[in-house]
Amino acid sequence: MSEKLISSVFRKEILALSAYKVAEANKLIKLDAMENPYTWPDNIKEQWLETVKDCPINRYPDPEARQLCKTIKQSNKIPATSEILLGNGSDEIIQLLLMALAENASVLAPAPGFVMYKQVALSLGLDYHAIPLQAESFALDMPLMLESINKTQPSIIFLAYPNNPTANLFKPQDIAKILAIAPGLVIIDEAYAPFADASFIEQLPAYKNLLVMRTVSKLGLAGLRLGFIAGEPAIIEQLNKIRLPYNINSLTQVTADFALNNQALFDQQTQQICIDRKLVLNQLNNITGIKAYPSSANFILFRTPKNQATFIFEALKEHGVLIKNLSPQAGLLTDCLRVTIGKPNENKAFIEALTAIIDSIKHS
Ligand code: PMP
Repeated sequence: MSEKLISSVFRKEILALSAYKVAEANKLIKLDAMENPYTWPDNIKEQWLETVKDCPINRYPDPEARQLCKTIKQSNKIPATSEILLGNGSDEIIQLLLMALAENASVLAPAPGFVMYKQVALSLGLDYHAIPLQAESFALDMPLMLESINKTQPSIIFLAYPNNPTANLFKPQDIAKILAIAPGLVIIDEAYAPFADASFIEQLPAYKNLLVMRTVSKLGLAGLRLGFIAGEPAIIEQLNKIRLPYNINSLTQVTADFALNNQALFDQQTQQICIDRKLVLNQLNNITGIKAYPSSANFILFRTPKNQATFIFEALKEHGVLIKNLSPQAGLLTDCLRVTIGKPNENKAFIEALTAIIDSIKHS
């Protein structure tokens, strides 16, 4: 295919982008993508199979996913004055939000942050403003945030709470200040809410410009592709105009509904992950040369000795463990790696491999 054809057909913003790459796990221990490592006990699986058995997949799904919406509103305690919209993962909701913006709109988010905000904004030709967090604490730099908001007048501000990849919760007072001065919408992305004792859902009635986004992915249902956003009905109504009618497939609708009615199972799993997170954090900080940052999510960001991150990442793969190398993103993430909390034996294999690799660096 000729380059001329490609460049005449696609927007320059698309030509300039690289696709979001997901590493292949093969037979590696998979600690790279913030998935819940646990599946369901056999009796629950049987009940689930009974539920999907009669799912009419010859028919289109319910375009409004009414039953699932009801269950999500209940299980997430969505205030009665708010409405929700479902997406094929919260990734799709990010895309919907940005696709709906006015011409020449700008988008603002702290950096480092979740890469998809920037990826989608750039693909749509929107101005994207990445505002650095404070070094080491990864707290919002409030003077800089407020100044940047005033200057760039963003239509949307994304705040991941807890933040990916730094795993910390921003101060709620800081978020409240941002909500008060933002000229447009503020999206609090609570993808990691199951692991953090904090949420802005209760605050929804207090702010007209606040939207809270969540996903079932980190909870243990990443394969379903389901996220939702809650907020003012008038805002959700606009987004609904560009949502494709059948974006949540029938199997996802029945499975998510079934799963959310078995909440106790997920609570047990997330509690276990939080216990193991503490253990892994301590073990990481006991390795000389490693600095692990506190986490309110199901992953931990850690700093490695200078210029060693990519070597350590590759060596971990050779030891059979896949994590995420963030060092190429540079800035505050230089020398940083990110590990997802897995099952205890997986965490143990990771810590043992990392200890051996750091030892080998010291003795080389
Ligand atoms: N928001 C944040 C902060 C994330 O880290 C992720 C996934 N890594 C997502 C949204 C997207 O989640 P999903 O599309 O699986 O719902």
